[in-house]
Amino acid sequence: MLFTYLFFGQLTFIIKTIKKSKGSEVFIMFELINHTETSVRQALQDFLRDNEISCSCEQCQADIMALALNRLPAHYYVSKRGEILTQWESQSTTDKARIMADVVRAAQQVSASPSHQLK
Ligand SMILES: [Zn+2]
Repeated sequence: MLFTYLFFGQLTFIIKTIKKSKGSEVFIMFELINHTETSVRQALQDFLRDNEISCSCEQCQADIMALALNRLPAHYYVSKRGEILTQWESQSTTDKARIMADVVRAAQQVSASPSHQLK
């Protein structure tokens, strides 16, 4: 999970705010989170659990996510660091269907021509 967070960390922008408290600095971190990214990651895990693709390494998963996210609208929200507000299960059926359709399309595309040599 930590690796996944760091790996996809560049997709998440971090805003730091500094508050002075009793002479010492207190850092409160806020993150700008793209809810679509959270949903695409969950949809991809669901897809990979039930389907075989030519390669499902971290690089191919990142390629699939990038392809799918470039086709879907972003939905950002601000949260305290580490707080994920909305779960995949709470998405409307229409949103889930659209997200899964784009993930499947991206997975088929990456599976057909991975960005690295297959062993
Ligand atoms: Zn791969």
